[in-house]
Amino acid sequence: MMRTLSFLFCALLASVLSSATIATQISTQPTAAKIWLKGNTHTHTTNSDGDSSPSDVVEWYKKNRYDFVVITDHEHVTAVAELNSKYGDGGKFLIIQGQEVTDRLDKKPYHVNGLGLQSVVMPLHGSTVVSNLQKNIDAIRESGGIAQINHPNFGWAITAADLLKVTGAPLLEIYSGHPRVNMLGGGGTPGVEEIWDAVLSSGRLYYGVAVDDSHHFKRLGDRSAATPGHGWVVVRAEARTSSAILSALERGDFYASSGVELEDHVVTSTAVTISIREARNSKYRTQFIGKSGRILAESVSNPAVYRFKGNEQYVRARILESNGSIAWTQPVIRTKTK
Ligand SMILES: [Zn+2]
Ligand SMILES: [Zn+2]
Repeated sequence: MMRTLSFLFCALLASVLSSATIATQISTQPTAAKIWLKGNTHTHTTNSDGDSSPSDVVEWYKKNRYDFVVITDHEHVTAVAELNSKYGDGGKFLIIQGQEVTDRLDKKPYHVNGLGLQSVVMPLHGSTVVSNLQKNIDAIRESGGIAQINHPNFGWAITAADLLKVTGAPLLEIYSGHPRVNMLGGGGTPGVEEIWDAVLSSGRLYYGVAVDDSHHFKRLGDRSAATPGHGWVVVRAEARTSSAILSALERGDFYASSGVELEDHVVTSTAVTISIREARNSKYRTQFIGKSGRILAESVSNPAVYRFKGNEQYVRARILESNGSIAWTQPVIRTKTK
């Protein structure tokens, strides 16, 4: 059972976090039994530029033992009721409604996913990077969706400074299966995980998601294609329902993965404990990361434990598997001591 802990925020930090986020972080009650559910929050079909029908896409994720998929076509909300009744096995597998709001400014792409939104949001074309993102995030929220800022380095469009200035999007893509989104950065531009640390270090909380951004289900094995099965989230939901999955995503109760599976991730007032579900013959190391992306400690034990020292601004973990797979846990926000 997980216990979420009370962490006091300094006033500065609290001032930039949404009230929903704060409410999550100061929850003190032990939680009821929850279930881990694996899903992808960024998927395309023939309703935009994917190569396969919604049915074929849903079947792929179901066959590959995902628990849910969010269909996020560009400027199209794919109806999910019929898909759920046909492929959902009475709610065992869930197809969630979504859209990728696809904007541009000065020839650069600004894409924000709306997860669980009710109706299509047409791009609102802000005149600056921040107003462009903010208008679309606000519209997603008004349509009942949770905003996920996609692939910051695609077209080298979005910087940490931009992310600090927008509000209302709890989720940020920190890993993508899409082959052309410049995940690792280069040429003096930071990688997406470095961007995440820069934003966290400035006192702004985003939860990191790993996604497929899948388009090409007919080109499996083609490394130049955006194929499925590379990045996902595993949410700790109160029930196997779309609304429970969406609220777990919104409150950051999940980890992101490109292959590593966790048994559990427990946070107490004194420590973070990460239990890894080890794959046969794989070896692991867990890095605990703090302000400015600094590695605070590294563990080769399972479970991997990090005991708080008291002066961390935040602590998150990256679990590296010997064949290249990674899992990322969400940052635990700590009070900064003087
Ligand atoms: Zn996109
Ligand atoms: Zn996309």
